[in-house]
Amino acid sequence: MSVSPYISVVIPVHNEEDVLDDLYQRLFPVLDKMNKPFEVLFTNDGSRDRSSEILKGFFNERPNEVRVIEFNRNYGQHMAIMAGFERVRGEIVITMDADLQNLPEDIPKLVDKVEEGHDVVGGYRVDRQDRLWRKFVSKAHNFLRKYITKIDMQDEGCMLRAYRREIVELMIASGESSTFIPALAVSYAANPTDVPVRHAAREAGESSYNLYKLIRYNFDLFTNFSLVPIQMFTFIGLAVAFGSLILFVYLMVQRLLHGPDVDGIFTLFAIVFFLMGVLLTGMGIMGEYIGRIFQEVRRRPRFVIRHVLEQKDINTSITDSSSNSNFNPKAE
Ligand code: UDP
Ligand code: MG
Repeated sequence: MSVSPYISVVIPVHNEEDVLDDLYQRLFPVLDKMNKPFEVLFTNDGSRDRSSEILKGFFNERPNEVRVIEFNRNYGQHMAIMAGFERVRGEIVITMDADLQNLPEDIPKLVDKVEEGHDVVGGYRVDRQDRLWRKFVSKAHNFLRKYITKIDMQDEGCMLRAYRREIVELMIASGESSTFIPALAVSYAANPTDVPVRHAAREAGESSYNLYKLIRYNFDLFTNFSLVPIQMFTFIGLAVAFGSLILFVYLMVQRLLHGPDVDGIFTLFAIVFFLMGVLLTGMGIMGEYIGRIFQEVRRRPRFVIRHVLEQKDINTSITDSSSNSNFNPKAE
């Protein structure tokens, strides 16, 4: 018989067979030492390695604390966390990466901050241990986010974070399928704060993110939390229209003074190409919004859970749910 947990730790897992054992060895002693009832929810996000078996092993060892959600395929880190959120029972919910880049030993610090009265506590990585290009991309993300969205936080990419249960419930209720969890949480928070956390190089395995995926994530953040990119085009459009008017007047005056000529045709080409570039970018940005609107209105499930490993008295054990149970709430 399990007591209701106070702390829920949610961990997305995608091809992490090489680190999961170390994670287990380090995470559970930290949580045990805190002396509060807890649960750890792992979401296996379509791993193609042995992660699934390893997680099953954890469940067999600590069935009272471990719950494993198995996706039918890869839906991305944020959806994996959302699936965990939909099932958490704790008052304080922690998210962290599986690869031990976040230190489990920092969890008590985050819990303390929530207990002090903050509803969202974000970690920010001091002395970040990542490749140079990643750090650079992160800096650029954080900079753009600061100016384009009104979301205020120190380090949007750090997933070692803590939330009060109410915030998690609001995030679930949003039902968004391409969201960015840290920003979503801050948008609901009444009293958010940031704390410094340590950061380590990846224990083993490879990062799931390349530059392309990171840029895609960036669009998720901007389109979900700001209209600035699309509104910017109104101003660019106005500026271009004004510039064209001046060019037109200039060309007319030239024609009146010197008669028709073909001089400057390449300059005109350059201008036309530049404008085409601006137009295409504008269409692309519109597409980013429209694509997401389309995703939301067609009401497909955000993710499909193949099964869940958990104690019988929590829910139905090993629920086989290729059914609708995990549909986007809006779809129901
Ligand atoms: N992850 C996931 N689904 C994905 C990509 C990543 O669940 O499609 C998990 C991954 O297993 C890890 C966390 O998200 O626990 C962060 O991923 P990763 O370490 O690859 O990202 P990075 O630290 O390079 O930003
Ligand atoms: Mg990592």
